[in-house]
Amino acid sequence: MSTKKGKVVLVGAGPGDPELITVKAVRWLQKAEIVLADRLVSPQIIEDYVSHYAEVIPVGKQCGRGVSTPQSYINELLVKYAQQGKLVVRLKGGDVSIFSNILDELTVLAENHIPYEIIPGITAATGIAAFAAIPLTARNHSKGVRFLTYYKSDILPEEYWKELAQTDDTLVFYMSSETASEVVEKLTAHHISPDKLLAVVEQGTTPNQQITVLNLYEYSGTTINRKLASPSLLIIGKVVQLHQQFKWLENGLNTEEYFEPVVLQPLEQYSGKQKLATA
Ligand code: SAH
Repeated sequence: MSTKKGKVVLVGAGPGDPELITVKAVRWLQKAEIVLADRLVSPQIIEDYVSHYAEVIPVGKQCGRGVSTPQSYINELLVKYAQQGKLVVRLKGGDVSIFSNILDELTVLAENHIPYEIIPGITAATGIAAFAAIPLTARNHSKGVRFLTYYKSDILPEEYWKELAQTDDTLVFYMSSETASEVVEKLTAHHISPDKLLAVVEQGTTPNQQITVLNLYEYSGTTINRKLASPSLLIIGKVVQLHQQFKWLENGLNTEEYFEPVVLQPLEQYSGKQKLATA
């Protein structure tokens, strides 16, 4: 173990556009010796801000495609490099705390007495709200906003769907592109108001951003008869009407995937001591 004290800085990189990163995040990236990077981080950010002397280790997850770096492996790398005295940046897409495994990482850092800092980032919902001109809590349209996920069917109990259908809150679904038609079915089954619309936002804030606005009652599994690009976000509510009125950005012409697919690193250093995380 090194005598130099290591540290981990958990940093939010923003949702896609490389300029949507904080000054604080940039400063840490410039100083980092090791960067453990999520998949949904703009490659431009790494290129522009990470020092040539730093080691960048991709630790992406792409659960929908069944390729994910095990969380326990990420935890091991965090501890290993910090104990070697390195300054480690754990670079996460969007904000560090929204639908991320930050709790696992904080737990392992605290257990190992490794100092850490947390630097926020712009989450996909707020980044996209701006780029799509969908003000998430616009007066007279919505009373609040809920960040949700529905990637597997036991996540939200049936009685909660009823409440979701009735609330005036804007609903934002992360990690739910594969289950979009089920989300629509549940909400319409519970009589969601027809003046609420669905915006499907693919690759938000990147040059390939695509927004499709749909009427929930006209939606059917075939409405979007193609696989949605990754990543994509669902926004549901009256506020989606405002997109048509106030949009300032046209859909990107290129629909190719902006982010690289996950490349799994050889796990030879992985001890396998901890149970493999499912995602
Ligand atoms: N911590 C991240 C979210 C991680 S979960 C954040 O704060 O944004 C990953 C999910 O976020 C994706 O499945 C997708 O639903 C959403 N997401 C992230 N970036 C996105 C983007 N550029 N466009 C659309 N959705 C995005």
